Amino acid sequence: MPLRVCFLSAEFAPFSKAGGLGDVASALTGYLAGIGHELRVFVPRHAQTQDAGVDWQAVDPLQGLDVQVGARTYRYDVRTARVPGTSHWVHFIVCPELFDRPALYTDSADEHVRYLMFTRAALESCQRMGFSPDILHCNDWHTGFAPLLLRTAYAWDRNVFGRTSSVFTIHNIGYQGLFAASRAADLGPSVDVNALHAGDLLAGRINPMRHAILHAEAITTVSPTYAREIRTPDGGYGLDGDLRARGAAVVGILNGIDTQTWNPAGDTYLPHHYDADDLSGKALVKAALLDLLRLQGSPQIPLLGIISRLAQQKGIDLYFDTLPELLAANRVRIAALGSGEPRYETFLRGLQDEYPGRIVYHDGYSEELAHYIEAAADMFLMPSLYEPCGLNQMYSLRYGTCPIVRRTGGLADSVQHFDPATGAGTGIVFNDFNADGLRWALATALDWYAQPALWQRLRTNGMRVDFSWTRSGAEYVRLYARLAAAG
Ligand code: ADP
Repeated sequence: MPLRVCFLSAEFAPFSKAGGLGDVASALTGYLAGIGHELRVFVPRHAQTQDAGVDWQAVDPLQGLDVQVGARTYRYDVRTARVPGTSHWVHFIVCPELFDRPALYTDSADEHVRYLMFTRAALESCQRMGFSPDILHCNDWHTGFAPLLLRTAYAWDRNVFGRTSSVFTIHNIGYQGLFAASRAADLGPSVDVNALHAGDLLAGRINPMRHAILHAEAITTVSPTYAREIRTPDGGYGLDGDLRARGAAVVGILNGIDTQTWNPAGDTYLPHHYDADDLSGKALVKAALLDLLRLQGSPQIPLLGIISRLAQQKGIDLYFDTLPELLAANRVRIAALGSGEPRYETFLRGLQDEYPGRIVYHDGYSEELAHYIEAAADMFLMPSLYEPCGLNQMYSLRYGTCPIVRRTGGLADSVQHFDPATGAGTGIVFNDFNADGLRWALATALDWYAQPALWQRLRTNGMRVDFSWTRSGAEYVRLYARLAAAG
């Protein structure tokens, strides 16, 4: 039976994306719509939204609306756009006053107000459309107040929300959206301060993610291992107790990837194509990228790829010792893409200056270069300190690029350490978060790379793993159906 799902996300690829959330929102909702569920997907219209050439539709009754957040009223429109290449639609909440900002996420004092406005506007749009969801699926702290709002400010509307169960997905517990308790009135109207977490209020703060964990009917996170890790003091960032208290309501579902966009046999960003049966096109892509980036030396030298937000979470600190050693010994070429903390950008820029022709660092965001690096590289580095799911290691596997990852979160669930004795396994997995751990992984990779038959086996094993949304999406549908039946 088709389910009615209202899906709220701060990002949605290809319109807006800062990280994995944008990819997941797009791929999961595409999967759900594709198998006949009825969706209303709401996304803020950020100033950065890529919407050139998009098929727009104004939603007539949803123009010039007002929504109240705390003491203020904000004016918004709802505009609907077709997701390129599909027959699915996304509803944009258009409120330039709050979403014309320098970035998708900011440090400004009204950050929580922006997303409270978005959440309320989405719920009120459901009311105006007469869309009564079986499931309200919210994501990360930005829409974390949705379950509480359903139980408080919008509980009166039994017609629309009387049968609605909420699902909250944690894509990254490291970002909880804390703001000052003095802003409690911003939760209103119709949310009593007594509904807020008393301990946090006493400590002078309000934590949107904690409220989602307390009030959603089900809490999912993006891999089974991360679901275990966030219930421990080390991985829970202060929310492990609340998660443990929710017991079986917390589940881990490994993300899938968009296997159309990320497909080496048809990737529109690539000059050559290939598949697991014939990898010759991969060598051509590598040669083309080496040329494009002016990386020098024999094409036999292994090319390491890095595509990452440059944040501590991503294990960039481990590169400080290991990458200069490899470059000085002239053992690898490196193509790195990403931006983030200045100290990491400075480090990579410094390496590029010190080893010209051996490493190229592109500071910025480039979808095209990301695809190119995934396809051209021999190995992909992802030594994360923690990683809820991670997408790039799955892209790497699909592109015949050996992932070198640390055994954490979704990396542990998606990459199996290769065993040369049996020929089983898909990548290189190390345990200890320190330079020696990564050093061992890199030495292992270079050793296996020098054994062509072994390397071929390792690559094709990875290319044959199914990471499509068919598997993960079906798990979400089972969860939704269980909640809808119980609701
Ligand atoms: P996170 O969401 O923690 O940043 P994920 O691996 O889950 O990490 O997802 C990151 C996504 O963002 C991937 O699709 C990756 O290719 C993409 N990405 C990250 N940085 C860049 C960049 N500089 N240019 C292009 N794509 C990027």
